[in-house]
Amino acid sequence: MHKPALLSGQQRKATSECERRMGASSPMTIGVLALQGDFDAHRRRLEELGAAVVLVRKPGQLDEIDALVIPGGESSAFLKLLGEDGLGKLNDFVRSKPTFGTCAGAIVLARRVENPHQSGLSAIDMTIRRNAYGRQIDSLILESVSALGGDPLEMVFIRAPRIESVGTGVKVLATRDDHPVWVRQGRVMAATFHPELSSDPRVHAEFLKLASNGED
Ligand code: GLN
Repeated sequence: MHKPALLSGQQRKATSECERRMGASSPMTIGVLALQGDFDAHRRRLEELGAAVVLVRKPGQLDEIDALVIPGGESSAFLKLLGEDGLGKLNDFVRSKPTFGTCAGAIVLARRVENPHQSGLSAIDMTIRRNAYGRQIDSLILESVSALGGDPLEMVFIRAPRIESVGTGVKVLATRDDHPVWVRQGRVMAATFHPELSSDPRVHAEFLKLASNGED
């Protein structure tokens, strides 16, 4: 199996712990929404962690997966490409199965979307503001402590949205300038950065843990 290079002790531990879990239980299939955006980097990372991955291009494929990653890209394009039927199916999915949205994916999962307003699936009780840190050129890599403890987490921000507020049911797992950047509500997780572009596999490992625990 291909392994990410240059991992710290903690990062290697997350990888092997994940492989152990994935091997121990009945195999889980993780879908990555592959309509647009950087879905392939998520696929590679999840496979490195031992998951079986399906690229989801048709709403019907949501019936065949145990958990879903909604990647970064352009959230307004996702809404258009999904159409009414796809959004309806995705809406049902996020209410019943573990889902992880990154960047544009986080926007799709939010209750309230600003700048400009667009509809969200209300899977996470948060208000999120699109492109809140400036344009593409202002993209940024930061390191910060997170709920994982241990090594700081590398966070890659690209035309990132900002989480302006969260409801009481939302756990904040990492912040940037006092704004949440990684959150979880029940089985649904969201990050405004791109963990698939960092060499640190721990965020995806957390999602696979959530997917196999079915935590609520
Ligand atoms: N700016 C994009 C949006 O509003 C998100 C950017 C990203 O996913 N990297 O949907």
